[in-house]
Amino acid sequence: MHAFRVSAVLVILIALTGCKSCKPSTPGTPGTAQTSAATRTAPHGRMIVLGFDGVDPRWLEQWVGQGKLPNLKRLMEAEQGRAYRHLGSTNPPQSPVAWTSFATGTRPGAHGIYDFISRRLNRQPGLPPVTPQVATSSFAVQEAGPPVARNLRTGEPFWQNLGNHGVRVVALNVPYSFPPDPMRDGRMLSGLGVPDLRETNSTFTYAGTEVRPGPNPGGGVMLPLVVTDGVGRFDLEGPSIPGGQGERMKLPVEVRASSEQAMTVTIDGHEMQMRVREFSPWIRVTFNHDGTNVTGILQMVALEAQPRMRLFVTPISFDPRHQYSPIAYPQHFAVDLSDDLQSDFKTVGWDHDTSALNAEVIDEELFLRDMNTIETQRTQMLVSRFQANDWDLLLWVSTATDRASHMFYRLTDPQHPRYDAALASRFGNAIEEQYRRMDATVGRIVAMMRPDDTLVILSDHGFHNYRRGLHINQWLRQQGLLFLRNDAEASDREFLLDVDWTRTKAYAMGTGQIYLNVRGRERDGIVNESDVAALSRQIRDGLRALRDTERGNATVVHEVYIGADVFRGGRSSDAPDLQVAFAENYRTSWESILGGIPAGLFLDNDKKWSGDHAASDVSETPGIIISNRALRSEHPEIIDFAPTMAHFFDQPIPASYEGHSFF
Ligand SMILES: [Zn+2]
Repeated sequence: MHAFRVSAVLVILIALTGCKSCKPSTPGTPGTAQTSAATRTAPHGRMIVLGFDGVDPRWLEQWVGQGKLPNLKRLMEAEQGRAYRHLGSTNPPQSPVAWTSFATGTRPGAHGIYDFISRRLNRQPGLPPVTPQVATSSFAVQEAGPPVARNLRTGEPFWQNLGNHGVRVVALNVPYSFPPDPMRDGRMLSGLGVPDLRETNSTFTYAGTEVRPGPNPGGGVMLPLVVTDGVGRFDLEGPSIPGGQGERMKLPVEVRASSEQAMTVTIDGHEMQMRVREFSPWIRVTFNHDGTNVTGILQMVALEAQPRMRLFVTPISFDPRHQYSPIAYPQHFAVDLSDDLQSDFKTVGWDHDTSALNAEVIDEELFLRDMNTIETQRTQMLVSRFQANDWDLLLWVSTATDRASHMFYRLTDPQHPRYDAALASRFGNAIEEQYRRMDATVGRIVAMMRPDDTLVILSDHGFHNYRRGLHINQWLRQQGLLFLRNDAEASDREFLLDVDWTRTKAYAMGTGQIYLNVRGRERDGIVNESDVAALSRQIRDGLRALRDTERGNATVVHEVYIGADVFRGGRSSDAPDLQVAFAENYRTSWESILGGIPAGLFLDNDKKWSGDHAASDVSETPGIIISNRALRSEHPEIIDFAPTMAHFFDQPIPASYEGHSFF
């Protein structure tokens, strides 16, 4: 049971599994409203907020300077330049943390989301004292009845507060707002956080005649395509069987090559003729177990028909018309959106198939073609809802700018381990293309706006290069703060499974978090409370002094924040004891995120996932804010959105908010 859980709970950072064993933490009560003396200084009218995940001010300014982003340039230069600012992110500057601060108006110490991953402290003997789990939401399949989804943040999102107080809200794809938030006068479609039908962050399937059983890559399932009499067969895995031990409902798939350039695929009564390298239309499939039906939608790509047969299947999205669990409020809103588009649409929150590109199952061209299709639909959704004109506050977020930056950073940097000149000549401007798409989307909205409309554009954090990874747990071991059983010098296993807890004082988990093995707090804790401060300073000073001797003595860590100093609030007991903020080109190694302890201190990042920000320094990873009105604040931060929106709509500012209106 335990082994299953550990392997099932998490695959890797980018393949965050939905988590049937996650224990939701107790939500706190949102701050009680207090009367604000604020008078409405912004003009009355509608409010439009467009989010572009991960837009970095350096690239924005460079491409604006080169005249490549004319619509943004016009806004940024208006109001004597006071309508454009860098936007302070959260510590750490990553999406789950920052978008939750956007929603709640609070810092992580209050809302409780510190990373994609949090740790679960186990009390039972026989289990490891600590295991990683998904930090943002839980999604649990029940023995009977529909699955139960739960957002693990503390605090009420501002749109829910406003939607319950007379503001007509439409919110599309706001990250980490799953399950959707009920509102009296609001409608929303959840974005990042909506799992796929396997209850994971997003897991693709690949079936090929050349596949041999072996370990799966992060975020994917690799299946052998077994051929008999010219017909290849595999079972597509779907949702967990309610009350099962991790078994999944399955659908048989049959594949026949019809020529070198085409194959016929049969699934759930559909027979598809597929040309090589073309995305199929959306296919609606129903998994069944003991009378339980679960419907999802997927697309397939025939990667090769002959001599090998190779088939890619996208992560299976919840069907917007028959939702496995609600993804919209009211639930019918997802059907309305589908009707607007006259098409199905991808509902899985992690919508771009970064895992498949990272596993090198699909290539850059297919990845970007899919990104284009998704973003074209997302923009259509925005435009048609804008035109419906039945809202006062319209929120919309796209993540393409972030995903393109993660996957294509390598092609902007000849020194990156995964730089490839041939690929760079074809795809070296992939990030710029997504910034241009952002500019075009902004241009379309501006052209439809009325004079008294207010537009705010934001990104949640900036970006950095990720060339080299640091094995933080190995560094802690070399400092004599972490021990492996039998005094081993390294371990191939993740989840800290080989740690000797009787001697270990500190361990790392997540992207940049370090925890101390505190007596009383952790089951096998050995660090006395009175030693926490000195030990924290010792780790901080050691990491500050660390240099990469194989790379010209480069600085590895920009800063180390002590948790007690920076994480304050009702959820600070969940906070890491130290937050490591890496310097440019460095990040926590892939292995360290889930508690791996490989040999050696540094490893070149040999993945296509080549840009990052999740463990960077908030002080040098700002996002951006652009408006059609002057910003009163010189240094706006993402926690300022919630109070700004309350102020704009003449609502009392909840006492829990930590920011201030930027208008
Ligand atoms: Zn990102």
